Amino acid sequence: MQVDSGKRIREVKSKVAVVGGGVVGFSTAVCIAETLPHCSVTLLADKFSPETTSDGAAGILIVHPFPDIALERQRHWFRDSFEHLLAIAQSQDAADAGVLLSSGFTKAGGKVQEKKVSSLEELQADYDVIVNCSGLGSEELAGDADLYPVRGQIVKVDAPWLQLFIRSDAGKSYIYPGSRYVTLGGTRQEGDRRLEFDPGDAEHILERCTRLEPSLCRATVLGHWVGLRPYRKNPRVEMEAPQVDGRHVVHNYGHGSYGVALAWGTAVEACKMVRLCLEERHPTAKL
Ligand SMILES: Cc1cc2nc3c(=O)[nH]c(=O)nc-3n(C[C@H](O)[C@H](O)[C@H](O)COP(=O)(O)OP(=O)(O)OC[C@H]3O[C@@H](n4cnc5c(N)ncnc54)[C@H](O)[C@@H]3O)c2cc1C
Repeated sequence: MQVDSGKRIREVKSKVAVVGGGVVGFSTAVCIAETLPHCSVTLLADKFSPETTSDGAAGILIVHPFPDIALERQRHWFRDSFEHLLAIAQSQDAADAGVLLSSGFTKAGGKVQEKKVSSLEELQADYDVIVNCSGLGSEELAGDADLYPVRGQIVKVDAPWLQLFIRSDAGKSYIYPGSRYVTLGGTRQEGDRRLEFDPGDAEHILERCTRLEPSLCRATVLGHWVGLRPYRKNPRVEMEAPQVDGRHVVHNYGHGSYGVALAWGTAVEACKMVRLCLEERHPTAKL
């Protein structure tokens, strides 16, 4: 609440910025917009679907434990994500899950802005809380030297007769049938920032996958795709100490190979942190 010069009481809407338009940014923005309906939530990103890393992920829900994060916390991340995704998969909108995320955000009153953010500080004059979901962009935005790219290349093929997935070599080779095409993978090249497709990598992927599933020799190649996974020893889901002027930053990035599998769970946690920040900043504001 704020009292203006005419002594009228008006409601102050808390303003939240979410930086990042991948699966983590949109999940976090939707979660905040739905959980804190009296806040104004704006999602800012310089790239949107189909140009984010999240667009090429096959959407497989497999996770490996992170070494320095309590297992119970990781279990929450996965369980919340799994239950959320299962509900979508069992709904009639299953085929449009990705589209649902962005339309769900605007339906919940969220705003989307295309913008390259040069520093998180530049947003501090306009927002009460800034949520950083910029994936690999956090190398610069958060000055995070622990974050690095792990390049992944895939081949998309038309092979509608394949119904079951195959995963081999500890996940280095895989065949994932999807609703529109079959994804063949992959590569995990640490520190490699090349976004252009490598014909040699494609040849190796096709060779390995055809060895696993010989019928692939009849498949038509539809295209190639490359993405850089935002890797970190542990994802960073945390609140920064408040800035001098009282504004807050919450980080949610560094999901590596598990962004789809963990996005909703870490969004739920980041959303709780946003609530704490806002309660501290405007103790009487309606959230
Ligand atoms: C080949 C491959 C297969 C994969 N398969 C799976 C899978 O099956 N299951 C799974 O769980 N995960 C998978 N992953 C991993 C998953 O894709 C990532 O973990 C996930 O996409 C990370 O999401 P994100 O939202 O953090 O980042 P991104 O999707 O990269 O989005 C980052 C966003 O931040 C924005 N941004 C960055 N910097 C700035 C800035 N300065 N200003 C404005 N905006 C900025 C970008 O424009 C973008 O919108 C796969 C990855 C690859 C490469």
